[in-house]
Amino acid sequence: MNDKQVALVTGANKGIGLRIAKDLAAHGFTVLVGSRDLARGEAAAKTVAGDARALALDVTDAKSISAAAERIRQELGRLDVLVNNAGIARSGRQAPKQGQPLAERAKAGRATVAPLDEFRAVFETNVFGVIAVTQAMLPLLREAPAGRIVNVSSGVGSLTNNSDPANPYRAMYGVYSSSKSALNAITLAFALDLESTRIKVNAVCPGFTATDLNNFQGTRTVEQAARAPVRMALLGPDGPTGTYSDDQGVIPW
Ligand code: NDP
Repeated sequence: MNDKQVALVTGANKGIGLRIAKDLAAHGFTVLVGSRDLARGEAAAKTVAGDARALALDVTDAKSISAAAERIRQELGRLDVLVNNAGIARSGRQAPKQGQPLAERAKAGRATVAPLDEFRAVFETNVFGVIAVTQAMLPLLREAPAGRIVNVSSGVGSLTNNSDPANPYRAMYGVYSSSKSALNAITLAFALDLESTRIKVNAVCPGFTATDLNNFQGTRTVEQAARAPVRMALLGPDGPTGTYSDDQGVIPW
């Protein structure tokens, strides 16, 4: 068993997830670097200063999820922090081609034209993956003195902002953003169900960040992006549950 607090970050082999893993390791956690490709997870874990271990975890694969939970149970006995970070903006089939104009790319994610399979693939990872991983890890989170679940959502999922006619970005509301609205709903559902426990569940937007997800068009660094999720992972006993925020404060649902 382990004296240190234990954190699992899904999709931590690169991008914002890897940065969150590095920051939590710097705070003294044993960090499990979740990666659907173990070799890439191992390479990423080597770049983390502190106690970091790669963990094979595909959030869309039930066997992979239960094997990961079992490994944590056997090796570490509990989980203090779960960061549901893994996410996709589009399925592989809809991946942007080199040089494809932005308008054309955005169109592939429009609700009226996106194939049903596209919705299914994005929701499978961003929503159902979070539900499956969270349910599998809950017994381990209950073993911790103060479990924390952080769902990496996005401001583009705000139903309040997207239903505001004055919001110029609402034209972009599509497959990915609706998956993040659904993730927000799931966050609230878990938070309410766990209200009588010591486990807190919050949704956080890292901000528009330069990563593979947007072909590095984001304007923030991963260091900046990791701050809000890490803050929510480190919440004390008086911290909130069932919230949706970024590093500027509360985002309206
Ligand atoms: P990246 O594409 O850099 O990283 C996404 C990570 O998720 C990768 O490690 C990827 O693994 C992993 N992943 C995807 N599918 C699965 C799966 N089925 N099982 C396990 N892991 C999986 O993107 P970001 O770092 O930008 O994204 C991290 C989170 O932040 C996402 O939830 C995203 O929606 C959210 N976000 C990002 C914003 C941004 O501007 N970048 C803004 C708002 C929110 P692999 O390498 O194998 O593909």
